[in-house]
Amino acid sequence: MNDISDSSSPQSKAAEPPRGIVCPRCGCCHFRTTHTEPLRSGRIRRRKVCRHCGRRMVTYELPPGMAGPDRYM
Ligand SMILES: [Zn+2]
Repeated sequence: MNDISDSSSPQSKAAEPPRGIVCPRCGCCHFRTTHTEPLRSGRIRRRKVCRHCGRRMVTYELPPGMAGPDRYM
């Protein structure tokens, strides 16, 4: 069985959901975060590695509290 879905978008960086990411290779959802880096834009870049097949992914997550108005001094 080949689970190659041709309808999947190859490069959709901005459309990365913050939760519920699924490995495009094996389809599992068990990831191990190897690196966390806060960006200046307020987002958090996380490098994750699939615990199943070792597929590396990069997610851009928006931390809670950034949706409101800026209250920084
Ligand atoms: Zn995988």
